[in-house]
Amino acid sequence: MYVETWEKCLQFIQDRIPPQSFKTWFEPIIPLNLEGNVLTIQVPSQFFYEWLEENYVHLLKQAIRSEIGEKGRLEYSVVMDRGDEQTKPLTVSVSGSSNSQNKNRVNGFDKYKNPDFLEELQNNSNLNPNYLFDNFIEGDCNRLARSAGFAVAQKPGVTSFNPLMFYGGVGLGKTHLVQAIGNQIKSDNRGKSIIYVASEKFTNQFIEALKNNNIQDFINYYKEVDVLIIDDIQFLRDKEKTQEIFFHIFNHLHQSGKQIILTSDCAPKDLKGLQERLVSRFKWGLTADLKQPDFETRMAIIQKKMQNDGISIPDQVIEYIAYSVDTNVRELEGVVISLIAHASLTKREIDLELSKQILKNIVHDIDSEVGIDYIQKTVSDFFSVAQDDLKAKTRKKEIVIARQVAMYFSKDYTNHSLKSIGYHFGGRDHSTVIHAVQSVNDMIDTNAKFRYSIEELKKKLKFKTHAV
Ligand code: ADP
Ligand code: MG
Repeated sequence: MYVETWEKCLQFIQDRIPPQSFKTWFEPIIPLNLEGNVLTIQVPSQFFYEWLEENYVHLLKQAIRSEIGEKGRLEYSVVMDRGDEQTKPLTVSVSGSSNSQNKNRVNGFDKYKNPDFLEELQNNSNLNPNYLFDNFIEGDCNRLARSAGFAVAQKPGVTSFNPLMFYGGVGLGKTHLVQAIGNQIKSDNRGKSIIYVASEKFTNQFIEALKNNNIQDFINYYKEVDVLIIDDIQFLRDKEKTQEIFFHIFNHLHQSGKQIILTSDCAPKDLKGLQERLVSRFKWGLTADLKQPDFETRMAIIQKKMQNDGISIPDQVIEYIAYSVDTNVRELEGVVISLIAHASLTKREIDLELSKQILKNIVHDIDSEVGIDYIQKTVSDFFSVAQDDLKAKTRKKEIVIARQVAMYFSKDYTNHSLKSIGYHFGGRDHSTVIHAVQSVNDMIDTNAKFRYSIEELKKKLKFKTHAV
């Protein structure tokens, strides 16, 4: 019965929106139940749920009304964790629109009604349930940090990684990783108290406590936690009093075998404005840095993100995004989200064409056409030689090879004549270019490692040549 009802709703909806939007946002929905006037549907993710509520709430209401009647209502069951063969997916129920309280619950951020300071401290571990090891993609860029984090999550306070400190630029996964540790410990140890706090919030709590004569409460409270996670410790810079209190708490926790986890945007030695005695404590444990993700890791992150949101896009598009956005994961996610949003708003499929259009507005260095200069830059970066050397007289072996490869691609990927190519490489003769192309072809045939380099470079150049 409920299946049929939902089928009819789908027909109603299908007639009113473009096929691609229907496919993306309605086909993945599974009807679960119809009880009285309430139809329950399962959606693949929280993002999905929010998207439906933002964009299709009216349409859904109309459909429900036309199929169930004026009193018809919709409830969502949001899949929070897909589970695997052994465990069932974890779902959370939410009512459709108009019920904002439930919306809060699905986010996992229950608000406190009682503003009392200590109660707020006690009740709020501040862990965001979406940050897990499971959805943290491992790559060379984060392997050490992730493994250390994982070890600490298994045995908080027991390993020599205490304190455990992650550092690295914005958007590289520091917060995700420390939250994942917190969530893991929380789910494995019911009794343990875990606090995640951003250092700014820690500072504000401290100031608040000062104002209210509550310092002792503040200190006692933090002294009692089993796992203390302080994010973005660099914001304690120049806050002498806060550093002092933190130093005190730190020592107490460390001596009692409690786990301390910290993050910072730079290496401990570069933490200016933090007391030396504090910084030297950070070095007692393990510091691990998070780097920019490489291409494969970026691919995996995009794939995972799409999968989590129950959306599929062509591999070619994923590759394109991974090539184009190499700064940090947050930016990568941002691009993916705007892509999904754009596709739905403009009612277009997510294809390479659309991705290029969108990325043009987001990523700055995508220029329209691959040129000799771009090839020279890409090739010289790849072989770690200076771009100017490609045009110079030098006959050093590695430079000669890079120069020949750049000529080879210039011939293949641009419309320049041999003469013009020679000109762009320090005024060389066209026969030099012919010779370069031949040498490169020979090496491709005889040297596997070289062949692989050429393939890599082709990938790097490929999307440029496609660009509009
Ligand atoms: P930071 O705290 O270093 O600025 P975040 O932890 O906030 O970075 O990460 C930014 C975004 O990128 C978050 O949405 C996070 O989930 C995601 N992210 C970062 N690293 C990874 C990773 N290795 N795998 C999956 N998602 C990641
Ligand atoms: Mg962060």
